[in-house]
Amino acid sequence: MASYGGTTQKCKACEKTVYLVDELTVDNKVYHRACFRCHHCKGTLKLSNYSSFEGVLYCQPHFDQLFKMTGSLDKSFEGAPKTARSYEVPHN
Ligand SMILES: [Zn+2]
Ligand SMILES: [Zn+2]
Repeated sequence: MASYGGTTQKCKACEKTVYLVDELTVDNKVYHRACFRCHHCKGTLKLSNYSSFEGVLYCQPHFDQLFKMTGSLDKSFEGAPKTARSYEVPHN
């Protein structure tokens, strides 16, 4: 009964049908290519630099801002994205 390949999939972001030419599968979830963008700033996301929360996509700075709030409204990310936030100390 369940035939693979002929089924239509729904975009996790807009819940409309995704056709193969427009399909982008991320984390076993299907999106339109055009829907793979930050929910907050609408910026296009890269596969290597995004976060999702319950199927909603965010760019890394906004995910950090919205879900890892430190308590103070820090807008320092606006001009300077944090690239190195961990200090690696070699154990030798
Ligand atoms: Zn979509
Ligand atoms: Zn964003």
